Amino acid sequence: MSKEKNCDFDIISLYRELGIRREVLDFGREIEAGLEKRFAAIDGVAEYNQLKVIQAMQKNQVSEGCFHYASGYGYNDVGRDTLEEVYASVFHTESALVRPQITCGTHALALALSANLRPGDELLSPVGKPYDTLEEVIGIRPSKGSLAEYGVSYSQVELLEDGTFDFDGIREALRENTKLVTIQRSKGYQTRPSFSVGQIGELIRFVKDIRPDIICMVDNCYGEFVETIEPSDVGADLVVGSLIKNPGGGLAPIGGYIAGRKDLIDACGFRLTSPGLGKEVGASLGVMQSFYQGLFLAPTVTASALKAAIFAANIYEKLGFAVVPKGSESRHDIIQAVTFGKPEGVIAFCKGIQAAAPVDSFVTPIPWAMPGYDSDVIMAAGAFVQGSSIELSADGPIKPPYAVYFQGGLTWHHGRLGILMSLEHLVREGVVVL
Ligand SMILES: *Cc1c(COP(=O)(O)O)cnc(C)c1O
Repeated sequence: MSKEKNCDFDIISLYRELGIRREVLDFGREIEAGLEKRFAAIDGVAEYNQLKVIQAMQKNQVSEGCFHYASGYGYNDVGRDTLEEVYASVFHTESALVRPQITCGTHALALALSANLRPGDELLSPVGKPYDTLEEVIGIRPSKGSLAEYGVSYSQVELLEDGTFDFDGIREALRENTKLVTIQRSKGYQTRPSFSVGQIGELIRFVKDIRPDIICMVDNCYGEFVETIEPSDVGADLVVGSLIKNPGGGLAPIGGYIAGRKDLIDACGFRLTSPGLGKEVGASLGVMQSFYQGLFLAPTVTASALKAAIFAANIYEKLGFAVVPKGSESRHDIIQAVTFGKPEGVIAFCKGIQAAAPVDSFVTPIPWAMPGYDSDVIMAAGAFVQGSSIELSADGPIKPPYAVYFQGGLTWHHGRLGILMSLEHLVREGVVVL
């Protein structure tokens, strides 16, 4: 083979070998050509956040010793303690708790709530119903060990029709025993808009003007590094999230974080381990390198996921499907919803995402009756970390309006392949005609 031939790589053939037909590739390229400015803006945010993370690591003198294995009680676990200082620097908070012993996002949120609420206190959500798994934590759905069982009451104020805050309703809902206000940044799997950090700041200011003593907590899941500021930059006392979403950068194999005011974080430490022990114990068991390196990669990984979401929104909007957020809308989290209006669309989309995965690409996802859901659900995930939703993944309940939710993508090139493959499968099934 000539030298020229070697360099003249033939990407169209490679896409074809992977199963993407030319029409699908061309359609995708046309859409992508119109996204240059959006992508440049995303890269700008990633650049800022990359510097922010590096600065935090330098300031706290992250060293090779931080990656050493620590076992047993974990007294003086330097890697763990330094990482918590790094998180505190990134989020501009007094303190942070970042642990593999926090098993997931729900656990981190439950921990922050139960650590800082006492019998007789009231918890208020001024942004409508919280994420599904929080219903049992709070006791909205009766559950063993819920806050309700411990005498913590709950109230919620719905958003207004247009998705904005009902300030009059919130003022009325602030009772004498209201101790903590919880604000969910991402829409999760609801139809309301996600909130910008600016909007969250406005809400926190409103609450603090009336009652400066109230603890304002933000469920930051899926929101980290989407903007250059975080809720803790606009007055949040606690920000909470999962390490198998944005801040783990795809490398953290488990974990959650809580960043915020020192007294509140100390309370979380005492609740996570034991009164009297708190943050002093809890060995990091060799996962520290993945936590540090994941945080280091998180700004660019989040940018990749955002690009994939915007690419998908524009492709499916162009093809006439309803998408949330819309193709040109600003982003406050990495989740994208596409409504197909029929089950075949949801199924074909998920098959395409699965077929593009680096892991388990040969598996065919099928709808099944998952516990906790009132309809069959189909899920596509070929992830290195089980259930990781910063990796390219999609799921959809098989019920009207037949919408699929997808998120993630550790690299933009993989995200693009996944979306092209979803389109390829929709074309094959006859749901879409190009
Ligand atoms: C994912 C998520 C959670 C829960 O996190 P898990 O890790 O799945 O337990 C909570 N709130 C929001 C908004 C989320 O997106």
